[in-house]
Amino acid sequence: MKACTQCRLIVNEASECPNCHSQTLTEKFMGTLVVVDPEKSEIGKKLEIKVPGRYAIKLQQK
Ligand SMILES: [Zn+2]
Repeated sequence: MKACTQCRLIVNEASECPNCHSQTLTEKFMGTLVVVDPEKSEIGKKLEIKVPGRYAIKLQQK
C-alpha cells in the first residue's frame, strides 16, 4: 500500500496515482482517512481533498 505524495490518495499495486496521475508514491505515510463526501468533511477541506477515497493523513518527508 502506497500513498501519493501529491494528493495523498492511497493506492494498491499501482505505479501511478489514479487521481492526479503522479508517479511519486511513498510507502512512508502515517494513518489513513476515508473521505466519502469531501464537500461536507471538515478534515477533507483541511487536507484539500476533492475526490472521495482513502487518503494518508500524514506523509513522512525525507
Ligand atoms: Zn495523487
